[in-house]
Amino acid sequence: MSDALMIQCPACGTVNRVPQAKLAQGQRPVCGNCKAALPLSAGPITVTDQSFLNDVERSSLPVLLDLWAPWCPPCRMVAPIVEELATEMAGRVQVAKMNVDENPDTSRRFQVQSIPTLLVLKAGKEIDRMVGAQPKSEIVKRLERAMASGDCSTGR
Ligand SMILES: [Zn+2]
Repeated sequence: MSDALMIQCPACGTVNRVPQAKLAQGQRPVCGNCKAALPLSAGPITVTDQSFLNDVERSSLPVLLDLWAPWCPPCRMVAPIVEELATEMAGRVQVAKMNVDENPDTSRRFQVQSIPTLLVLKAGKEIDRMVGAQPKSEIVKRLERAMASGDCSTGR
């Protein structure tokens, strides 16, 4: 099943199975039930201090939040990975980016000391954090683990 994405329809709630090959061809998936366009972001959404509540805290999906700044070379190494994940994890993880220079409140709130920092959030609560440029495999592993945990309590 790893060659398909499970994408929930925002209109009717049906979970659709979308082959990745279709996405690779640039096809826009639609819901098999109601034909609404499925939320397949072309890339990560951009989150600001102002939109954090709506985009992150109220997200029904876990959120991978990439905290970055334009002057940070390791951030530019992470950026293409984050963009790939936005497509590959569509419907399972909401991938988001935040420019820390323009949004100091959120980085202060999560005590982000250095960038890039990748936060894994559920309902606005930090589940996991990766600091510094990470290989894609590591990010995926941490996301899978965050999704497997039923709630915010760590089982460790
Ligand atoms: Zn639908």
